[in-house]
Amino acid sequence: MSLLTDFNQRQAVEVGQELHRFAAELYPICRSITGDGIRQTLAMIQDRLPLRIHEVPSGTGVFDWTVPKEWNIRDAFIKARDGQRVVDFQKSNLHVLNYSTPVHATMPLGELKPHLYTIPEHPDWIPYRTSYYKPDWGFCLSHNQLLALKDGEYEISIDSTLEDGHLTYGEHYLAGRSADEVLISCHACHPSLANDNLSGLAVATFLAGFLCGRELRYSYRFLFIPGTIGAITWLARNPEAVGRIRHGLVLTCIGDAGGFHYKKSRRGNAEIDQVVAHVLRHSGEPSEILEFSPYGYDERQYCSPGFNLPVGCLMRSVWERFPEYHTSADNLDFIRPAQLARALRVCTAILDVLENNRAYRSENPYCEPQLGRRGLYRSKDGGASREEMMARLWVLNFSDGKHSLLDIAERSGIFFPILSEAAHVLCQQELLSPLLSDDVVQATEKVSRALP
Ligand SMILES: [Zn+2]
Repeated sequence: MSLLTDFNQRQAVEVGQELHRFAAELYPICRSITGDGIRQTLAMIQDRLPLRIHEVPSGTGVFDWTVPKEWNIRDAFIKARDGQRVVDFQKSNLHVLNYSTPVHATMPLGELKPHLYTIPEHPDWIPYRTSYYKPDWGFCLSHNQLLALKDGEYEISIDSTLEDGHLTYGEHYLAGRSADEVLISCHACHPSLANDNLSGLAVATFLAGFLCGRELRYSYRFLFIPGTIGAITWLARNPEAVGRIRHGLVLTCIGDAGGFHYKKSRRGNAEIDQVVAHVLRHSGEPSEILEFSPYGYDERQYCSPGFNLPVGCLMRSVWERFPEYHTSADNLDFIRPAQLARALRVCTAILDVLENNRAYRSENPYCEPQLGRRGLYRSKDGGASREEMMARLWVLNFSDGKHSLLDIAERSGIFFPILSEAAHVLCQQELLSPLLSDDVVQATEKVSRALP
């Protein structure tokens, strides 16, 4: 049974609710690029998946970067003269500039203001700001909160630590028949932000869970890492695994109400780029394909010129293009169960194509074989549907060793799983045979690999 056929037998409503529930469990944690927040997040993923947790010491050199000090936080506030907390970390972890150095002081509002961040255009929202690589402290608050602050003295406290420790990331590996790998990567370093990090984490966790225990062609590696420094650290520490990556996806911002966006790999014509475009075209949802650019999520690192891996980025709304991005409005209401479930289905369909895309040879290339005699043609009393029959004709005609099933899917406009099923039926009838063994590079891959 194909991955997609199996997935389609699940109740989409329940799958969506489970995904959303998992995002809700992860939501309250104050994550950052290092520290106990990301450890706790990985432990919760580990409850669902075998996950290897790696701890890389602060100060470790990784290419042009250095693993930073570890950040942890217990509490933070701004207190008015009457002792009331006017800004309280316990109410939202976004209130603290992520990676703030510790501070405890009393100061007038005028001195405090350069350390306060708001969004005047959305006066009820709290912005999310970070200062990972420049030591600083600050508070993020709604613009209305700022306007309500009267002149006078305020007690401020950020009870954080920034010390030598570790960078933590999680890795789930699933062995397939081939050592060639599919990489699925998502960042796990944002605090209470739902679309930007939790949607990707939830979909990746459930996708990995769905693959567990299956007989697979490729091996799969799922990375749950802090953004940028996590990908750089993993790439620096795993040169052998890097060499085995044949296809990859970064998953992020995948649970909101927007249509799908796929940012192509730097190669632009890798098999993954073709596969995602094909699946999205048949997804029944609006979608847009974006060219590669050296800005965005961790595809920036995987697609840096020294690696140039075939890794694209699958999203719904695109970072910075939606107003809720990096604000308290990217909350659990902003992501929706149905959208999460459909995103998981699209990911499953993508892997289904990767698993089943290969080239075949027609065993009967001189004129059409007589399909009716074999019960494979459309007839008055039923038999094949028109689409099934067309799929069989397309597969037979183009299985000349030069076209993969995906090439045929693109040329015919027929959705890949229907062609894949046609190929299966034709092989059973000995009208078709696989051209290459499973772990041999296919025609499509050869083309994309030959390019710089
Ligand atoms: Zn972000």
